[in-house]
Amino acid sequence: MTNETNPLTVRAVRAFADNYIWLIAAPARPGAVVAVDPGDAAPVRAELERCGLSLAAILLTHHHADHIGGVAALLEHAAVPVIGPEDERITVTSRTVQGGERVALPDLGLVFEVLAVPGHTASHVAFWGHDALFCGDTLFSAGCGRMFEGTALQMRRSLQRLAALPGSTRMYCGHEYTAANLKFALAVDPDNSSARAYCDAVAVRRAADEPSLPSTVELERAVNPFLRCGDAAVRTAAERHAGHPLADETAVFAELRGWKDGFRA
Ligand SMILES: [Zn+2]
Repeated sequence: MTNETNPLTVRAVRAFADNYIWLIAAPARPGAVVAVDPGDAAPVRAELERCGLSLAAILLTHHHADHIGGVAALLEHAAVPVIGPEDERITVTSRTVQGGERVALPDLGLVFEVLAVPGHTASHVAFWGHDALFCGDTLFSAGCGRMFEGTALQMRRSLQRLAALPGSTRMYCGHEYTAANLKFALAVDPDNSSARAYCDAVAVRRAADEPSLPSTVELERAVNPFLRCGDAAVRTAAERHAGHPLADETAVFAELRGWKDGFRA
């Protein structure tokens, strides 16, 4: 519904050890960008200055400090709208949104659907539009976020919601975890040739110090074990790890999530 033919121009700003702050170029206002999850202001300001860009709005996916910590400092230099989920732990929003709402920024030429994706945190949202998805810490390439505030069923439903988006959707997540996630994915599903090929491609990109992201929904459906709980090989691996049969796909998901939490490649 919000898909458009011209792909968004999105630049990655690195923050902390492995966070990405995404800067979306506003199609209708050259030089203006929307920042997604600016956990740290300094690298954003440096990138804006280096490229001669101006901040026009901020989108927030969830309350964690590494996603919102830079907002107050950015607002000191630019009074822009800050749009994020309703959550008392986020005090910097100028507009709160929930799943099913639409964020329209007509002067910037941008419109996003808000998707409620609880699990990593209770109020986590994702922004989808222009064939791009900004999913914070819910879905990572070849992995998913830890469940800090949700059940396995909630998290799995959130992931299924994202996996059901058009395959061409480019996926911009909050962290560079892809290589480590692929080690786990291949431990679960060693015969997955798509995951193996992707692992090789990611190794090349990371060796050149380039982001592995964005991924696509289509690629994630093929390589991400957390989206493949109904796959026979994934289920067999999860049951072997559990040491007993697993009742359903949510039980498979929960087993995989617990396995990954303790996984060291
Ligand atoms: Zn988080």
